[in-house]
Amino acid sequence: MNNITVIGAGTMGNGIAHVFAQSGFKVALADVNAPQLEKALQTITKNFDRQVSKGSVTEEQKQQALSNIQTYSDVNEAVKNAELVVEAATENIDLKLKIFRQLDETAPKGCILASNTSSISITRIAAVTKRPELVIGMHFMNPVPVMKLVEIINGYSTSTAVSDQVIALSRKLGKVPCVVNDYPGFIANKILMPMINEAIYSLYEGIADVEAIDTIMKLGMAHPMGPLQLADFIGLDVCLSILNVLYEGFGNQKYAPCPLLVNMVTAGKLGVKSGEGFYTYTAGSKELVVSERFKNR
Ligand code: NAD
Repeated sequence: MNNITVIGAGTMGNGIAHVFAQSGFKVALADVNAPQLEKALQTITKNFDRQVSKGSVTEEQKQQALSNIQTYSDVNEAVKNAELVVEAATENIDLKLKIFRQLDETAPKGCILASNTSSISITRIAAVTKRPELVIGMHFMNPVPVMKLVEIINGYSTSTAVSDQVIALSRKLGKVPCVVNDYPGFIANKILMPMINEAIYSLYEGIADVEAIDTIMKLGMAHPMGPLQLADFIGLDVCLSILNVLYEGFGNQKYAPCPLLVNMVTAGKLGVKSGEGFYTYTAGSKELVVSERFKNR
């Protein structure tokens, strides 16, 4: 396998293109938003520069990797020669179903169609195609060039041969693949999101303040980041939508999102991306400052 197409050149798409190109694959990177492609190339170059300055990649390897990437604003053109497509477009079910219907029409016969979705059912995505055995989840973690894990999600119809191929491919990228079955939240979010929700409940119930909750989990459990800071980093809207997927998917009260999380998202306090969540974020500052809302509580 040599030709990979990545659909969506946002946060995850540029990282996925980066790691495939670094491992010698020819990458067609596609986005419907042309300026995003330019931005993605700049980000990829900057991230390679960082690797060069750290000595993990040579200047020559960087140039070679960059020359492996071609950008396309026409998705149909980008998948013409694809052997594997990794879809990393916006997390929206209707959009993903539309993209997979289109990919099924235009990608070559036999081409594997993978999705980087964090929460949408692979089985549901596969069901809109005529090749469900070739559809699989390939869930990379952010930032892709740094994080070792790839959660591989076998849909109900994914063939064992396709799963084995994607496992081998992930290893070629220097990643550690872990295979899971397709149920709401897969494994990563099925375990992470209830922990984040419990941290938010603990704050809501007044059991401890933001700093205490995050410090206990950092120092006590050796987590690099506390759950409230991590929630801000992921985006509180994203956390809420994944919790709703778990809640609806399993029909179990234990996944019900904390009312405080619902209120914060409704008020537009989404974490890092909106400048405020459990902490406040000022451009250019790395200091972690608890939001005024949660001080002295
Ligand atoms: P993003 O918003 O940064 O990027 C999405 C890109 O998709 C945008 O550039 C947009 O222009 C493009 N796009 C939208 N419709 C398209 C179409 N029809 N064809 C081609 N491109 C299209 O989003 P992201 O954070 O990179 O997330 C992408 C996927 O990765 C989502 O499914 C998300 O759940 C998943 N994911 C995200 C993270 C994360 O931490 N951000 C982690 C793991 C998985």
